[in-house]
Amino acid sequence: MIMDRLFLAVFLCVSLPPLVFSADWDYVVGGPNGPANWDKICKDGKKQSPINIEVAKVEYAKMEPFKLTNYNMKPTDDYTLINNGHSLQVGFAGNFFNVSGGGLVGTYTTVQWHLHWGENNNKGSEHTMDKKAYPAEIHFVSYNTKYPNISTAVDKSDGLAVLGVFIEVGGEDNAAYGFLKYAMNVTKKSNITIMPFELKPMFPAIERFFRYNGSLTTPGCFESVTWTVFKESVKISAAQMEYLRKLKFTGGEPMVDNFRPVQPLNGRKVKYSVNETLTKPTSASTTKATTKPVAGAGIIDISVGLFSLMLLTALFGR
Ligand SMILES: [Zn+2]
Repeated sequence: MIMDRLFLAVFLCVSLPPLVFSADWDYVVGGPNGPANWDKICKDGKKQSPINIEVAKVEYAKMEPFKLTNYNMKPTDDYTLINNGHSLQVGFAGNFFNVSGGGLVGTYTTVQWHLHWGENNNKGSEHTMDKKAYPAEIHFVSYNTKYPNISTAVDKSDGLAVLGVFIEVGGEDNAAYGFLKYAMNVTKKSNITIMPFELKPMFPAIERFFRYNGSLTTPGCFESVTWTVFKESVKISAAQMEYLRKLKFTGGEPMVDNFRPVQPLNGRKVKYSVNETLTKPTSASTTKATTKPVAGAGIIDISVGLFSLMLLTALFGR
């Protein structure tokens, strides 16, 4: 119980940076506390997030598959569902769900996820792919277990790993996102406990992903995040999306458009995962591309040209 409270305290510290790092901040573009006026690293940093992922410019990199430990298990302790005033967040004890592989160095332990969404389905995600925004994006936040806790890790360059998943809207309720209906119990800044459940069903296929070094997308914007953005998305129903849009910001306004605008790359490279399975020829059209030196070890840097265009088509055309 004491541990639970300790973890909750840590979440609140992390999710309420304005109390620590700056005055009030919000998502009102052009407003006095809006993203353009977030201070310190938010303004001066050169490795800020989110970014627009320009697919034609990604660098192909061989990274071993992700290892998501216990992601298909239920922990014994309850989760805490939190309206933290700027997002809907679910927190839980660390050292149960762990993330390694996927090009990460070391082991990261997952302690929360939260979401960003729009007032309509044309916007909402923080990252964009070729300028396309998704209606929502979920961030699974893990800290490097070489550090004792997330508060220590949050400002270290290898401190955090965030797994980002684009969310689309349509069709039936997504059972893995059933927790969204409890959002109606935290429409104002507050929290409740909910029963634990598995994380893995919340993910799309995890073989294809983008990787870059960036930052927290809220003040203080520490450049401590190894970002993973999965290429495949998940889908929730329109009703599930509406639960999110009924939440309120701290000031009482509808909690929508709680995403930070994309930030300049400043020369950073975005990598795209390539592994053995993907490089095996699967059809006549991919044979030519995949018999090229993709099977070699290490990071593969392919210059833009006909070959990379073909590989791009082979990988993204499915
Ligand atoms: Zn986020």
